[in-house]
Amino acid sequence: MAQRTAAIFQPEFETLERHALEALQFERLQSLVERLRDANAIYRERLRGVAAPRSLDDLARLPFSTKADMRDAYPLGLLAVPERELARIHASSGTTGTPTVGAYTRHDLAVFGEVMARSLAAGGIAPGDMVQVAWGYGLFTGGLGAHGGCEKLGACAIPASSGNTARQMQLLEDLPVIGIGATPSYALVLAERFRNERRRPRSLRYAICGAEAWTPELRASIEDTFGVVATNIYGLTEIIGPGVAQECLEKRGMHVQEDHFLAEIVDPDTGLPVPDGTRGELVLTTLTREAMPVLRYRTRDLTARTRERCSCGRTTARIDWFTGRVDDMLVIRGVNVFPSAVEHALLAFAELTPNYRIVVERPPNGLDTMLVEVEYAPGAAFDDRERFAAQVTHRLAEALLVSLEVQLLEPGTIERIEAGKAKRVYDRRTL
Ligand SMILES: [Zn+2]
Repeated sequence: MAQRTAAIFQPEFETLERHALEALQFERLQSLVERLRDANAIYRERLRGVAAPRSLDDLARLPFSTKADMRDAYPLGLLAVPERELARIHASSGTTGTPTVGAYTRHDLAVFGEVMARSLAAGGIAPGDMVQVAWGYGLFTGGLGAHGGCEKLGACAIPASSGNTARQMQLLEDLPVIGIGATPSYALVLAERFRNERRRPRSLRYAICGAEAWTPELRASIEDTFGVVATNIYGLTEIIGPGVAQECLEKRGMHVQEDHFLAEIVDPDTGLPVPDGTRGELVLTTLTREAMPVLRYRTRDLTARTRERCSCGRTTARIDWFTGRVDDMLVIRGVNVFPSAVEHALLAFAELTPNYRIVVERPPNGLDTMLVEVEYAPGAAFDDRERFAAQVTHRLAEALLVSLEVQLLEPGTIERIEAGKAKRVYDRRTL
């Protein structure tokens, strides 16, 4: 399918020469540090005795923030503006119970709209296009964030929200929808339903997927099954929501919206910066956020950065596919296993689908066991199911350096998640 040349939404920021971009970042970093000292008691305390940055290199001397800091300051302890200046509040569900609150001024919402408009444009959407927003509307930042981006870009938003697959399919069949925003697992649910029912979306060409971990292999599945170009979007409530970074159609990493967000990569153990091209933990600083600015937030997401110029014309730094989260890493009999590595190894087999689940158990007085259940593709060509399962087991064990068991499941066996994030890992070890 021929790709359109997607326009860059804000070339005045997205194609800035690096020295000009870095000068802008430094100016904004200085004013951020001043603002945090002036306007927030928690940051004032944390920045006590810390010298004002004199160059971008001084960033590494500023203190980190963590998820725990946000939880401790729940709900509005990290505000840097008076409450009556707020225009919206989002929240993400916390796995430990306390949600993370994201508060926005009108200016913050304008920035959110801008970075989402840039992201949609980078993912192939043009003004005038119809976009089905299949991320959840509500406290979650995905739905309303993408909606604001559509309005800023001049596209037409269809606020489908998440779930109700029958209605999503009908909209995609009846309306000339060009783009869809969805979690990758839900994009695959839709793609499979269309294929199984021998139906087709009317005009769909682009899928912008994010809000959960996925891999290039899952992208290939979505693109093949759906007949679309799928790009990767990244963001988090703590920073602003989706739109912090987004792939262009070159699909060689996600462009960080660097005039608003400073991205560093650090060694997750030492916290020291690592060189470009080296994997480490992504650390983000909000340069323009008013309501809840964040200094050096440890995202726990593992990636690598490049500042080489992209052939799309954007000059902003790019970050690679995440190889997992520091927190998602399973330790099985002393070996580190990332669920994304399991997905990567499974999808090297054409006979398998991206529908899988990882079950880890600890038998009484025994060693931890890892079971990978995976659906084979409808009409998969293997003669002997057991022999094929043994072959997959062998390949996974080799790739992950841990012994495990693989069980092949009939197509359609694993429950599809229609709303929220796909659950892949069932760690049943009691701590
Ligand atoms: Zn690019």
